[in-house]
Amino acid sequence: MPIYEYVDTHSHLDMPEFDADRQEMLKRAFENGVKTIITTGIDIPSSQKAIDLAAANPAIYAAVGIHPQECTGVTEADFERLELLVKCEKVVAIGECGLDYYRDYSPRHTQLETFYHHLDLADQTGLPLIIHCRQAEEDVLKILSDWSAQSPASAGKGVIHCFSGSAETALKYINMGFYIGLGAYIGYPSSRKYHPAFAAIPLEHIVLETDCPFLPPQTHRGERNEPAYIPLTAATLAEIKNLGTNEVASATTANARRLFHLDK
Ligand SMILES: [Zn+2]
Repeated sequence: MPIYEYVDTHSHLDMPEFDADRQEMLKRAFENGVKTIITTGIDIPSSQKAIDLAAANPAIYAAVGIHPQECTGVTEADFERLELLVKCEKVVAIGECGLDYYRDYSPRHTQLETFYHHLDLADQTGLPLIIHCRQAEEDVLKILSDWSAQSPASAGKGVIHCFSGSAETALKYINMGFYIGLGAYIGYPSSRKYHPAFAAIPLEHIVLETDCPFLPPQTHRGERNEPAYIPLTAATLAEIKNLGTNEVASATTANARRLFHLDK
């Protein structure tokens, strides 16, 4: 299989799952064409680690934020800390942030307050958002549509990460200025019902991601996911969209570079 160039727009490289072989894992990513990786914070310590990893490796960029499942007990001091972290070198996005009503790990009012803080931060910095939405589509759509109505529509407001839903919902996000993030889960048997929707999402609004160490490709179920597997997701998407993997690679890589201003 020829090697194309890719960006992994969503990973958690700081997690302990990578402690034993982080350098070899990055080497494998590089060998498979995944030359740029965004590592995403889920709380203050992991956001700091994302910045440290980005500082140590030219291929890595950082996103800083507080995940909706991690916001229980969040304090004003945490938000102040986040405001400082967002100004650090190689921070290209705010997140991951959003709403997660699956099992309600954190109280909904805390999730909402935390999410609004991230939107304010995006207003202040102009950085794109990495949005996590699980079983909270109605609220996320409403909040983002109100928020994006205030600022002129630009195709760079952020990404709806790990998207599963209808083409209609995807187009609503796209019209607000968001991109759609797709990962290896699109190849799971349980995702088959979404294939018509994935096929209908315009390629110029899609970015690829792993969410590693989570959600490995179908052929690696039960194992750790890692950025080197991005080409498998590109091949799956190419099949769903009846395109060449080269087309999926070049479009999604250009989209990621544009959205996260990776060429600056
Ligand atoms: Zn994630």
